[in-house]
Amino acid sequence: MRALRLMNWKSEPELVEVPKPTPGPGEVVIRIGGAGACHSDLHLMHDFVDGALPWSPPFTLGHENAGWVEAIGTGVTAVHEGQAVAVYGPWGCGKCARCRLGIETLCENPISAPIPGGGGGLGLDGGMAEYMLIPSERFLVPLPDNLDPFAAAPLTDAGLTPFHAVRRSWAKMTPEATVVVIGVGGLGHMAVQIIKATTSARIIAVDPKQAALDVALDVGADEILKPDEKTAATIREMTHGHGADVVLDFVGSEATLKMALASARTLGDVTLVGIAGGAVPFSFFSQGYEVSLQTTYWGSRPELVEVLNLASRGLIKSEHTRYSLADSAEAYVDLAAGNVKGRAVIVP
Ligand code: NAD
Ligand code: ZN
Ligand code: ZN
Repeated sequence: MRALRLMNWKSEPELVEVPKPTPGPGEVVIRIGGAGACHSDLHLMHDFVDGALPWSPPFTLGHENAGWVEAIGTGVTAVHEGQAVAVYGPWGCGKCARCRLGIETLCENPISAPIPGGGGGLGLDGGMAEYMLIPSERFLVPLPDNLDPFAAAPLTDAGLTPFHAVRRSWAKMTPEATVVVIGVGGLGHMAVQIIKATTSARIIAVDPKQAALDVALDVGADEILKPDEKTAATIREMTHGHGADVVLDFVGSEATLKMALASARTLGDVTLVGIAGGAVPFSFFSQGYEVSLQTTYWGSRPELVEVLNLASRGLIKSEHTRYSLADSAEAYVDLAAGNVKGRAVIVP
């Protein structure tokens, strides 16, 4: 079968021929129905060097996947052949306190996981291929009847990550609150919908790209802004001088972090999701009083069930640009150039 593989750090992925996987005991092979291209894959291709992560290339890209069960190994009982499933991407040990709660992103015994700190498309073979090996039925979530794998794939990361980030600040997203979403690409345009579906807070979307701002307005943003040196001041003006109750930064550069801190209201939350690698000084006076600054990483399995439920009820939906596996390398070129609407989803 064909697979888009990252062969080395600091390189572009290559479409190559690899053997079709077969499931061992407890394992499942799925036929991919959709594999999302995440901006994190661009960071993997361009920003990492040997030793920076506990795993390294070569591996097949794609950590945002859904498909149909193709074959099951002995002992698998939770799914059956032909069933439509989403893949829960962060693969932990399954036994530690965090994994038992379904928070496998924060596994505390990663040495016993299928791969320490990774998953399919992150050190192990991912979904940019015709078939994908899943090491445990625990990593599969059955899809609701009205959700197909193509629609579900982006929900497993571009949906799940913002859901987790939004959920942590739900208490501050009151009806009179303002939430700023910086970067309304694959993750950010889902964040707008998740805020809209689960709160009545006012939403301001910030992005330099008009096409991304148009999508944000379409999916529920109340106001849009192109970033410049005055954005934080503009956000204060739009909020009677107070600032935003919650700022979600889906870029994470020095400029966006500065903007986020300068825009936040006292008692507000600033949540860093994007991994552009920016840094800002943190001190008593570097932001308004009692502003919390936090990072978030992906999401839990129970949260993925909730995200699929929101989509099944028509409350959230990933915009997508569709690519074939033959054109999958092109998807990343377009993503890097900022030319993808919503999420790029590869369909083998
Ligand atoms: P994307 O390329 O689809 O979207 C990024 C958006 O940010 C684009 O619309 C772009 O125009 C916009 N942007 C760029 N510079 C900006 C600026 N200065 N101000 C405002 N907007 C700006 O990327 P994505 O797949 O949505 O990923 C977003 C980020 O989140 C990436 O850094 C990715 O690695 C990271 N990520 C983090 C997690 C996590 O668990 N923390 C999970 C997935 C992705
Ligand atoms: Zn991702
Ligand atoms: Zn664990």
